[in-house]
Amino acid sequence: MIRGDAAEEAFLARTRELASLRHLESDAELGSLFETPPPDIDPEILKRLRQMYETGGWVLVESTIADLPADLRWLFESGAVTLEQLASIHKALGITSNADLAAAVGERTLQELPGIGVGVEAAISAALPALRALVPRIPLGRATALAEPFLERLRALSGVVWAHAAGSLRRGQDMVGDIEIVAAADQPRDVIEEALRVVEAPRCLHRSERRLYLLDERVQVGLRVPEPANAGATLLYLTGSVRHFDALRARAAATGWLLTPGGLYTSDGTLRPAASEDEIYAAIGLQPVPPEIRNGDDEIAAAARGELPALVSVQDIRGDLHMHSTYSDGRDSIEAMVQECRTLGYQYLAITDHSPHSAATRTLTVEGVGKQAEDIQQLRERYPDITILHGCEVDILPDGRLDFPDKVLERFDLALASLHEGMGHSPDQLMKRYASAMKHPLVTMITHPTNRLVPHRPGYDLDYDRLFAMAVETRTLVEVDGAPAHLDMDGELARRAVAAGLTIAISSDSHRATLLRRQMQLGVLTARRGWVEPRHVVNTRSIEDVRTILAAKRAAR
Ligand SMILES: [Zn+2]
Ligand SMILES: [Zn+2]
Repeated sequence: MIRGDAAEEAFLARTRELASLRHLESDAELGSLFETPPPDIDPEILKRLRQMYETGGWVLVESTIADLPADLRWLFESGAVTLEQLASIHKALGITSNADLAAAVGERTLQELPGIGVGVEAAISAALPALRALVPRIPLGRATALAEPFLERLRALSGVVWAHAAGSLRRGQDMVGDIEIVAAADQPRDVIEEALRVVEAPRCLHRSERRLYLLDERVQVGLRVPEPANAGATLLYLTGSVRHFDALRARAAATGWLLTPGGLYTSDGTLRPAASEDEIYAAIGLQPVPPEIRNGDDEIAAAARGELPALVSVQDIRGDLHMHSTYSDGRDSIEAMVQECRTLGYQYLAITDHSPHSAATRTLTVEGVGKQAEDIQQLRERYPDITILHGCEVDILPDGRLDFPDKVLERFDLALASLHEGMGHSPDQLMKRYASAMKHPLVTMITHPTNRLVPHRPGYDLDYDRLFAMAVETRTLVEVDGAPAHLDMDGELARRAVAAGLTIAISSDSHRATLLRRQMQLGVLTARRGWVEPRHVVNTRSIEDVRTILAAKRAAR
């Protein structure tokens, strides 16, 4: 019994009963069961038995293992524990994840369990870093899309005080290990029931009083329902990063507190309940640290000095300067994009379709530019409440020239320049191409500068500090692109860019109206990882200020 639900119990009991009834002792004998199944057998049990039979073994143990919360499965497969030891750890301590294991190792509670002891505890402790690395990761875009419906439904429940995704998803990492949702509520049952209703036929991996693990599109979604009065510590611990929490623990110890995954304690061991993370930060003398910058490097020192930046947020965004329409490879008309941008409350947007030589499946031709300009003019009259800029995303050709002649580029309000090839050019050549594009007075912005493809292709290996210096000098904007396959610049690079004095753009690069919101949100999340503030971002400004910035670059002609 590891999953702990009634279905598992019934399944195991019925299997044992059938096996003894028919005197089945080996898998070879199972075949007879399917020829004449007992009339009252649950079809689900029969189906699973048949699966076991057909895969060639009496693999009850394996099949039970396969239905475990993923972290326990990895622990078993690492060889650090036997199945009995795993069951004992789970049963005695309710452990379902690596985070629980790390907490139990920290408190030395594993070694006291029957059949575990110091040796196994040490083996688990040694296996933990590798276990974290083993966790299969999914792209941030997919993880966000999977978590969103759970968060929306749970937040709408009256008993839920707040609900957040935790872990690498909340920190906005480009690849996410776990989808783990924390929802603070006194009555966990309704919350768990509601979560089970979010997906159509959820496969439950584990359910206990305040926890649920299920499979949604083959990805594990975890839910924890802590009591609101002390839920701050749970969220803080599960959000991580591990290094950030360790640094907080050290800071707590230095200021006379004991911080554990279970809560904050005074030196005499009294729990000081904290409903929110902010209360814990305040108690140990820190400004609350935004999840996106909880890396465990310099953020604690900045929080202690009271010098954390006020990071850019979705509410600061006043427009979107990079998106595609059916004039190139976008799926929606310009009008559909405009309407969605109005719904998002934007003051402006730019339509920026691909130039002829880009690798896009459809591109904007020179003749198309004129037709598009007419379309946009009509839409400007129809929607006077939003400014529609006419732009393009022009490829930088191998020799550094642009994929539209100047006569055409002049017709646009702005031009984004980009490289789209995966390989074939040395860093030196790539740099030259960027340099000649940035020197061009009609180029407003460099999009997705590393041209990485999450998770398949790393970005160009360039001297980005030199690139940023050139961008400052030529008044060229550089982008944080929010498309899940780009997220480019990433947080680390964005931090270096703004430190170099660059103004950046945060864009959706959306190819569909329905993705404008989410991809902007991912772009903002990524920029936040780079300590980016509203003042660093062009599209937090009014349309008048944006026009001034666009004109300043062109004036250099
Ligand atoms: Zn592009
Ligand atoms: Zn694009």
